[in-house]
Amino acid sequence: MSVAEKATTPHVGAVEVERRRVLRDGRVKLKLALLGVAVDRCGVCLSQFRRAERGALTPVCRHSFHEACLRRWLRTAGVCPICRMVLSMDE
Ligand SMILES: [Zn+2]
Ligand SMILES: [Zn+2]
Repeated sequence: MSVAEKATTPHVGAVEVERRRVLRDGRVKLKLALLGVAVDRCGVCLSQFRRAERGALTPVCRHSFHEACLRRWLRTAGVCPICRMVLSMDE
């Protein structure tokens, strides 16, 4: 098993548009996914993900964050911001 597959290391990738839907009133709703998992908002800054942003998905608990937000968080706390599962991220 490589270091990247450790159960405490978040997976990072780009946020992608999984599905695009136009509402009756003309607004466009995007369904976003990160590494194949549906995501909505970052668990640290609580803002919605946007296409092509760098995101981080925690292993096991599968919580999603901006990569930068999670890195900043993990510098002071070694746990998932949502469920407090132990995490570690290489600098
Ligand atoms: Zn964020
Ligand atoms: Zn979690």
